[in-house]
Amino acid sequence: MAYFDNNSTTRPLPEVLESFLGASRKSWGNPSSPHRLGSRVRALINRAREEIGQSLEVEPHQVTFTSGSTESNNAILSWIANNQSRRTTNVLISTIEHPSILETAQFYFSDSIRYIPVDSDGLLDIHAFQKLLDQKLPSLVSLIAVHNETGVMQPWHQVAQICRDRGVWFHCDATQWVGKLDTDGLNACSSFSFSAHKFGGTKGVGAFVSNQPVSLIKGGGQEGETRGGTENFPGIEAMRIALKYSCNAASAQVEQETWKKSFEDSLLKEFNSLKVIGHPVPRMWNTSLLCLPEFDNLSWVSKLDKLGYTVSTGSACSTAREKPSGLSAAIGLSKSESRRLVRVSSFTETTEEDWLGLANAFKDAFHELKLEQENSGVVVL
Ligand code: PMP
Repeated sequence: MAYFDNNSTTRPLPEVLESFLGASRKSWGNPSSPHRLGSRVRALINRAREEIGQSLEVEPHQVTFTSGSTESNNAILSWIANNQSRRTTNVLISTIEHPSILETAQFYFSDSIRYIPVDSDGLLDIHAFQKLLDQKLPSLVSLIAVHNETGVMQPWHQVAQICRDRGVWFHCDATQWVGKLDTDGLNACSSFSFSAHKFGGTKGVGAFVSNQPVSLIKGGGQEGETRGGTENFPGIEAMRIALKYSCNAASAQVEQETWKKSFEDSLLKEFNSLKVIGHPVPRMWNTSLLCLPEFDNLSWVSKLDKLGYTVSTGSACSTAREKPSGLSAAIGLSKSESRRLVRVSSFTETTEEDWLGLANAFKDAFHELKLEQENSGVVVL
């Protein structure tokens, strides 16, 4: 079975599992307890905070551990909402944000949101952004670093700089960036978020980094009074290890990029009207979002699954709701095109053989689907 759904979640690395189990077995004390068992866990959490801070080039106290990016994104937006006067608050977000930004913004800011458009490749329109900024300074700008469905890398370095110059809070949802791409410059954002399970860590743990104290959950004063609740030490420790290994994975990116390109070239040759979304703009080394010429994406996913290849229809979060994500509308795809989107996303463990096999599996799946269609006698529009 070859796994190509890494943007939804990655398999925990063996070293990560070992550290998670080790932490659960040996360091299960409550880090807030005054005895040695607890103090040792507290010291280990501090070590994790220091190492993670170091690798992201931020101060340890700027790192707040959370249950993942959904919580982190909610934390930042709700904090802005609660700390600005309702009359003056307005936010600028892109039309292709993850629901954990989009829906949170709609909840807290409703009609004071202004949307920054993207082009048909799913790349932020930087001129439109600058125009919107000039019209009225917002309380917050939020931009996804790399899009989870298209893999298109957004100009967040540029946006961070512009916001910095104008004194505007810039939050970056770096969930698909951290652990997969060079994090240089992320410390120029006012805040950013990430989740460990996107880069070989375990689920239910992540963090946000903020250059100002952001109070999130009231309770026992953990996380420097930022987020109450007993810390998930095994998850935090596993994230420390995952980030350490992911930083060693830079060389794998070049290989994956080459293999992905051959995969796309081979499919473009096979299927005349195939579209690779975001083809001409910079994309992450691991992601291909394909708009296939025929058949709905669930048929493709289930056929490829049977052939031994796990792919996805797009974002796992929107699949749960059985409705297309906001991306399709934002990049101008028709309803029929959005039903034909299949996402393929690799990770460092993916081999060249997996990529070659996947290209062949797409071709086999097409022939099987065609045959089934002919045999059923149903005309598919
Ligand atoms: N932002 C982006 C860009 C994501 O891809 C995801 C996960 N699909 C999230 C936020 C939410 O992460 P989590 O489910 O780990 O909270």
